[in-house]
Amino acid sequence: MGATLRFFSPEMSSRARQRLSLEADLRRVLDDDEFELHYQPQVDLTSGRIVGLEALVRWNHPTHGMVPPDAFIPFAEENGMIVRIGTWVLHEACRQFRHWLDAGIAPRRIAVNVSAIELSRGTLMAAVSAALEASGIDSAQLELEITETFVITDREQSFRSIDELKAVGARFSIDDFGTGYSSLAYLQQLAADKLKVDMSFVRDMTTNAGNASIVKAIVAVGQSLGLEIVAEGVETEEQALALRALGCDAIQGYLVSRPLPAGSMGEFLATYESLRLPG
Ligand code: C2E
Ligand code: CA
Ligand code: CA
Repeated sequence: MGATLRFFSPEMSSRARQRLSLEADLRRVLDDDEFELHYQPQVDLTSGRIVGLEALVRWNHPTHGMVPPDAFIPFAEENGMIVRIGTWVLHEACRQFRHWLDAGIAPRRIAVNVSAIELSRGTLMAAVSAALEASGIDSAQLELEITETFVITDREQSFRSIDELKAVGARFSIDDFGTGYSSLAYLQQLAADKLKVDMSFVRDMTTNAGNASIVKAIVAVGQSLGLEIVAEGVETEEQALALRALGCDAIQGYLVSRPLPAGSMGEFLATYESLRLPG
């Protein structure tokens, strides 16, 4: 009996079974049209205007329905599939942004999440160039969001990829800031343009003094490095006001809009005026 007889043992949890079935499906899906992007706006706290959109991938699975990224990105990273998914996301986000530019409703930038795996494989530059060329959007209109933990994988290759991309004018944003272990030295070496305050700190900053101090400290670090600061997961006006008082530049979250499919986001962009906060 071979040592490979370990799949679907009776004690295997249904969660693990589902994971295996999704993983098998993920190999199939790349020929199909089952991925889609949803878009969420970022709003400037001074002008109230939409300054950017973040593209968030979903897997519209024939039987499991809309599968959120957290349920498949991790194993797509493990098996390397993330490179192909990431390339698709870049192309689709740029294509859609071009469409909104042509319709006269595009904000300044489109942000795309990039996995540490894509950076460390050294394939990102080619994918970005191809997506920009195919859509004809300017590199300065594209922002790449990378999580703070990217430095844990191949550091040298990652920094090389980042430098190449910066050289062609792409912008970088550090995602989930405050949750990883990167040092301030890395932060400086990275020379990012933007820092996104993780939503776990935003969530109860108006009731938890500790979280409010963390946000305050992050804003101070970001400002001293000359970075633009965006808070994510902003759901209430109270949070938005507190963030504005701390010097945060922009917000993203349900207060403005949930992530929406392209069609609905187009309608949103065409009719949105501005976020009005008291004071
Ligand atoms: P993220 O980049 O931190 O994205 C923000 C997540 O917070 C999104 O979850 C978004 O739907 C959710 N969110 C936004 N506003 C609020 C709010 O006000 N309250 C709450 N509770 N949640 C809010 P989503 O779309 O499920 O994405 C989860 C993560 O999956 C993303 O976290 C990102 O790390 C990853 N991801 C998404 N799309 C891609 C992609 O195309 N490539 C890669 N590599 N990762 C992706
Ligand atoms: Ca992100
Ligand atoms: Ca985030």
